[in-house]
Amino acid sequence: MSASIHRFSVGKFTCTIVPDGTFAYEHPAAVFFANAPADAVDGALRAHAIDPAAWHHYVSPYPSLVVDTGTARVLVDTGAGNLAPTTGQLLPNLRAAGIEPESIDIVVITHGHADHNGGNVTADGKLAFPRASFVMWRAEWEFWTKEPDLSSLPVPDFIRQALLASAAHNLPPLAGRVELLVEECEIVPGIHAIAAPGHTPGHMALSISSAGEQLLHLVDTVLHPLHMEHPEWVSAVDLLPEQTVAARHKLLARAAEEQALVMVYHFPAPGLGTVRAVNDGWTWNALKEGEHGR
Ligand SMILES: [Zn+2]
Repeated sequence: MSASIHRFSVGKFTCTIVPDGTFAYEHPAAVFFANAPADAVDGALRAHAIDPAAWHHYVSPYPSLVVDTGTARVLVDTGAGNLAPTTGQLLPNLRAAGIEPESIDIVVITHGHADHNGGNVTADGKLAFPRASFVMWRAEWEFWTKEPDLSSLPVPDFIRQALLASAAHNLPPLAGRVELLVEECEIVPGIHAIAAPGHTPGHMALSISSAGEQLLHLVDTVLHPLHMEHPEWVSAVDLLPEQTVAARHKLLARAAEEQALVMVYHFPAPGLGTVRAVNDGWTWNALKEGEHGR
């Protein structure tokens, strides 16, 4: 059974988290903490009641976010399409949430990874959100549409090939419809694009604010809750590790200081919580089901 649809409000905005499916990452310690000493990872996992020797998979949700501002309906990311048998349910799940794909005005593509832009195009090659314009960082668009070099990533080749194939399939059809950002700006009133490069060259985070409330969507700035406590541990798919660490420091400090409601794409569903500063890092306080929204 797929994760459920989660609806909540941010001021006057209605937000809906709509799952595309899930994906089981194998060898999660090697994927998420690629540069960390193994014994330190083992200790940190045990502190979170995870047995390192038995940690064979991390099942990640793939959640898109719909923000209805009252004047615009904005979709953030389009899931993974046909990446795996467990993905590609965004369109039926949107309809189940009462959101017709034709009603989406703007699609924000936070970055060019297969699990974030995989649903731009339907199986028969048509744009899945036919009325929408798209927004992406220019550096991100240029990286993925001009012979991307993934040779620095310590991942098996099939992963590189999957990333390249998804970008080649899902990005070119947006040409002419995509607005390419070169600096932080307000996409529509209340939704701000935040530069968070590192995971990819033009990875985007978002601040969504209305009537004194804020949702900070960190997207893939962090991938696993342990990244809050160990912001220096980067994943095997972070293209620019030093920038990843810098982006984490900037955004986790902001989240804690502003006491924002935070969303993270790959955290256990619905991926909402708050961030608290501790010692040299931060901790994640996941909202329990029913604490915010329904
Ligand atoms: Zn991702």
